[in-house]
Amino acid sequence: MTTQLLDGCGRKIDYLRISVTDRCDFRCIYCMAEAMQFLPRQQVLTLEEIERSARLFVSQGVRKVRLTGGEPLVRPGIVGLCERIAAMPGLRELVMTTNGSQLLKLARPLADAGVKRLNISLDTLDPKRFRSITRTGELGRVLRGIDAARKAGFAAIKLNTVALHGRNADEVPALVDFAIAHGLDISFIEEMPLGDVGRARDQTYCSSAWVRERIAERYSLIDSAEQSGGPARYVRISGHPDTRIGFISPISQHFCDTCNRVRMTAEGRLLLCLGHEHALDMRGLLRRYPGQDGPVLDAIRQALLRKPERHGFDRDDVQVLRFMNATGG
Ligand code: SAM
Ligand code: SF4
Repeated sequence: MTTQLLDGCGRKIDYLRISVTDRCDFRCIYCMAEAMQFLPRQQVLTLEEIERSARLFVSQGVRKVRLTGGEPLVRPGIVGLCERIAAMPGLRELVMTTNGSQLLKLARPLADAGVKRLNISLDTLDPKRFRSITRTGELGRVLRGIDAARKAGFAAIKLNTVALHGRNADEVPALVDFAIAHGLDISFIEEMPLGDVGRARDQTYCSSAWVRERIAERYSLIDSAEQSGGPARYVRISGHPDTRIGFISPISQHFCDTCNRVRMTAEGRLLLCLGHEHALDMRGLLRRYPGQDGPVLDAIRQALLRKPERHGFDRDDVQVLRFMNATGG
């Protein structure tokens, strides 16, 4: 039976983000501490458990699934998983967020597997800065990955940039130029205080309003009511119809009223809100009821009734101890 999942505030939940691994080949300064402890493998959901979870949610009206991480493309078997989720009847789109490091080899297989759209993180166009923000990453490899993705036939590709004062905020116009030159969308994200990453975040906090002003100094921006089913608010650029600019503003302008999503962590915690610890232990349920979906679905419906009305992020207040890679951004 298909029903529509609703939370306790009457919001329709039709978007599931799944972190398929907490591991990553980068150590971005806003996402992780330098020395990260990753989960032991037996605590991470198996590919079968991830697939089953996706199937349960899709059977209940979820129309969009995003695979993320950690870095989803470092999880062995990821392409096959994409193929199986993309084929689920009722799903409108399977999308992915990636750091781009593996796209040179995986862009085409992912597109062939049915991944519709990609978000690729790109914070700077300067190789030295790229290394210092990601701690381990190589810009050239990601740029080659972006190129491969452009040729692979995705319906859309969007760049994600976390803007930080003193790190990359001065590159906002250059990143918009890059997006325009390559016919890509770009979203600027305000840094969220998830996990203790070993630096004070209020020193570098950069608001969406500030980013927008810098772009408006170079381009004429047109407000748009367009939605991509996620938290970004979009503007268009006069004379450049192929690029939209998104602003994701969890600190300055929360998007809780229209929240339509839940997240499942790599260890199978169903997080009801990015900014709270309320969660359902999906892994426990999936393992307790291997052949029975009914009790798992009941628990999901009950848990959604506890979805908080809003998050309460403050700039530098680490209220949520889990890191972004464990959360599934
Ligand atoms: N590894 C992939 C990537 O970097 O695109 C997917 C996972 S990453 C956690 C998803 C997105 O979250 C990235 O665009 C990243 O820039 C963003 N992100 C990570 N930590 C963040 C934080 N503390 N505040 C805001 N965005 C963050
Ligand atoms: Fe890895 Fe993505 Fe986190 Fe960077 S933002 S450390 S690429 S998971």
